[in-house]
Amino acid sequence: MGCRGERFFEGDHDLDEASEISEDAGIELYHYELDEPDAKHPMGGKGLEATRSRLNNGILNGLFETYLTQAEKKFFYGRELRLVHTAVLAMRVGATIEPKYMEMLRAAYKKIKVAPKYSWPLSDTGFRGPMKEQFEISLKHYKNYGTPYDFFAPRCKGPGCDKANDELKEEAKLQKCGKCKEISYCSRECQKAHWSKHRKECKTPEQRKAEEEARWAGRSFIGLNV
Ligand SMILES: [Zn+2]
Ligand SMILES: [Zn+2]
Repeated sequence: MGCRGERFFEGDHDLDEASEISEDAGIELYHYELDEPDAKHPMGGKGLEATRSRLNNGILNGLFETYLTQAEKKFFYGRELRLVHTAVLAMRVGATIEPKYMEMLRAAYKKIKVAPKYSWPLSDTGFRGPMKEQFEISLKHYKNYGTPYDFFAPRCKGPGCDKANDELKEEAKLQKCGKCKEISYCSRECQKAHWSKHRKECKTPEQRKAEEEARWAGRSFIGLNV
């Protein structure tokens, strides 16, 4: 957590957005009540279901309609990002996003500018690097019939695959790249197909450590980590 994160809910602005959207919804959407542990969906038990059913009973549609019609100046981070954040909060609890809103989201997210890396919070009004890809994948894989979507589940890096463990056939599990142990694949085919791209960044943990040490070696001053 903290403002440096690059993916959804790792950055302060996601949390600002989540609290504004929760206020408009009249229910807490990010820190929803964890009243019963649920082994399958550790993000919440009854709290999750209650949140989902309230969203499904008109609250989610109401939020989309409000954000599609409110004046642009109402959105510090832009209308499109607000719509995306609303969808992301709904997906986390498995709420139903009607087809017309899915359609709208598929167009809206493309208008959001992308900062390749983290930028200063005040100018950080678009997607931070991986958020765009994360959202694209969620649009493709969100089941939209009550299953919460885990934005942090490991996914196969095979080109166009992006499958998570729960989308694979029985018994099949994602396997980590044997060399870097950083990324995962669902099959040899996906690994092969990704290799021409991955080979440039695939390093053993020892190689990464050595590079990191070499980078700092000889530095007498380390800048403030801001
Ligand atoms: Zn795959
Ligand atoms: Zn690798």
